[in-house]
Amino acid sequence: MLKEECLACSVLAGKLQAPGDTIYEDDYWIVEHSLSPVLVSNYLIIKLKRHCEHLAELTPAGATALGEIVQKTCLALSLCSLG
Ligand SMILES: [Zn+2]
Repeated sequence: MLKEECLACSVLAGKLQAPGDTIYEDDYWIVEHSLSPVLVSNYLIIKLKRHCEHLAELTPAGATALGEIVQKTCLALSLCSLG
């Protein structure tokens, strides 16, 4: 479920658009660039595909998926910074 006044939910609802395409998406998570003016190199947003205000609200499957996404996103950023 999305929440109207939430910035992340506004992007999910298509009211705002993060720069570039979605970098990664699965059943629970999306990886994308941050919205301007917070756009910073070597920095990506990993966000849930539903409104969530606390990690305690994650489902076990969503929490498990997050660990793998964090590792892969950090690996991708480290490989990009080598080039
Ligand atoms: Zn939200």
